[in-house]
Amino acid sequence: MQIIADLHTHTNVTDHAFSTLTEMVQAAEDRGLAAIAITNHGPTNPDGPHEWHFSNLDLIPRKIGKVTVIRGIEFDITAPAGGINVISNKSLKPVEFALASFHECMFPPADSSVHTAALEAILYNPYVNAFGHLGNSNFPFDHEYIISRCNDHGKIVEINNASLSIRKGSHDNCMDIARLCMKYEVPISVDSDSHICYRVGHVEGALEMLEEIGFPEELIINSSVERLNNYFKGRGLHLFDEEDLL
Ligand SMILES: [Zn+2]
Ligand SMILES: [Zn+2]
Repeated sequence: MQIIADLHTHTNVTDHAFSTLTEMVQAAEDRGLAAIAITNHGPTNPDGPHEWHFSNLDLIPRKIGKVTVIRGIEFDITAPAGGINVISNKSLKPVEFALASFHECMFPPADSSVHTAALEAILYNPYVNAFGHLGNSNFPFDHEYIISRCNDHGKIVEINNASLSIRKGSHDNCMDIARLCMKYEVPISVDSDSHICYRVGHVEGALEMLEEIGFPEELIINSSVERLNNYFKGRGLHLFDEEDLL
């Protein structure tokens, strides 16, 4: 099992991340990745960039060196009703891949029913592609209720390697969520959530967990160039040329 793209990374326009776009892309190339998504925090997160960061994302070349660059965002899920950061449609226009995640600074942890209702609202949000680091144990929710409905709303689930190492107690949640994705055939991505170039593409812990439960590779959208291409093609985005697919 392997990944060929890292779909959750931060550059230093996020204050608590340290590497430039150039360094992140170079790290992806050094790791042999075909693609990287740059997914900085939404503009109303205290650590997010100004929304002009997002409106200008299309300045980034589609391909830098050997790496295809996907223009992304990591929205905060906002309390209590499950909104996302306030951002204009103009600024969102270049965004090609959007995660939505709970962060304690933007959503004070409440109880499972509050979190489940917020996630349910995200299911209906047309700007969101994927749920980010759902395994955070500060945000318990009704796993089966949300995961079983992802396919109806075209949402994928991220298994976040950083959760397994830094978010205490996430391992069992991530495993349960992954098992449900398997049961309901919900596609997932496996990402590093790197805040520095040295971690780009490092998802060893997540892959180990997925292998342990026999998770099917076909459901991991970033496990091959062809699968990643098909995922984005289904959303009207042409990512790779024919020669990249060989
Ligand atoms: Zn996050
Ligand atoms: Zn992140």
